[in-house]
Amino acid sequence: MENIENLSRLPELLLPWFYREKRILPWRSDREPYHIWLSEIMLQQTRVEAVKGYYSRFLEKLPDVQALAQAPDDLVHKLWEGLGYYTRARNLKKAAQVIVSTYGGRLPRDYQKIRALPGIGDYTAGAIASIAFNQREPAVDGNVMRVLSRLTCDETPVDLPQARKTAAERLRVVYPPEAGDFTQALMELGATVCGPNRKPDCGSCPCQDICLAYQNGTAEALPVRLPKKSRRQEEKTVFLFRYEDSIALQKRQDTGLLAGLWELPNVPGLLTPEQALVWAKEKGLQCRDLLRKMEKTHIFTHIQWNMWGYVIALREPGGDFVWKTCQQLSQEAALPTAFRIFLEEWDNV
Ligand code: SF4
Repeated sequence: MENIENLSRLPELLLPWFYREKRILPWRSDREPYHIWLSEIMLQQTRVEAVKGYYSRFLEKLPDVQALAQAPDDLVHKLWEGLGYYTRARNLKKAAQVIVSTYGGRLPRDYQKIRALPGIGDYTAGAIASIAFNQREPAVDGNVMRVLSRLTCDETPVDLPQARKTAAERLRVVYPPEAGDFTQALMELGATVCGPNRKPDCGSCPCQDICLAYQNGTAEALPVRLPKKSRRQEEKTVFLFRYEDSIALQKRQDTGLLAGLWELPNVPGLLTPEQALVWAKEKGLQCRDLLRKMEKTHIFTHIQWNMWGYVIALREPGGDFVWKTCQQLSQEAALPTAFRIFLEEWDNV
């Protein structure tokens, strides 16, 4: 049974609660479209607490769309370093260039024009249109899907694209004039009281009266999800070639996973220490010592890297690599976490 009619009471229940209980967040201090856009992109698949520092640092260096459009790729990557999903950063810059060349440096107000920018899907377009421009455009992310599926007791798996479409259609007809606040209120309820990975706090929820899952005692069983696909396992050997205070790096290809970022030299498969030294020699390097072997795992959304890393001291820098000191690495080069985890033990090596 689904409870759709009662959704019409959502704004009157949710808005007063939101005005009273909302968290103070850096991106809620104004409605500047660039700020809303940046925060929404950063918050995708990333926790609020983790985003706060990144958001402030990014705006300090790149305070407006023009600055972002002209920023060197290395700077954008550096500001994103550790947040993961680097395609988001690349698309942010691409979209900034479109906004400058097509819209005079100001984000367009029209939903379809926002939606057509690189890296912006239905959810982000809805969030910008409603929060920055107060338009009645729903923004349905995982948090909002969870709330809606509980309120309406809808057992359609939330991973299905159709589920998001249906949720957006149901919300669109109940949107109040305070569109931006309503979007944020729904997100806030889904991020806190009706949150993920824990029992919903129905006792503190302003929507108890209209929530069918609460009334049926099924809140914890919702939302329904499709079974997870298992991650593809990949094995890699990673090299930390050291010469004095410098380390060998190379750039990744311009397409695919972690495109265009720096990486430690690596090869597919798990090489024995002897094979690793042979590979180094073939690259024209003169090895002095194999100092250490490390084993690390890094998990992406669909892939897991199982890695062996070898720390090898060289007699001189060489090979077809770029050499950077630790200081240069920390100040200039964005090294994805999958490789940075090997450097955490640098001082002990
Ligand atoms: Fe979520 Fe409970 Fe509120 Fe329903 S009553 S929306 S399940 S917190």
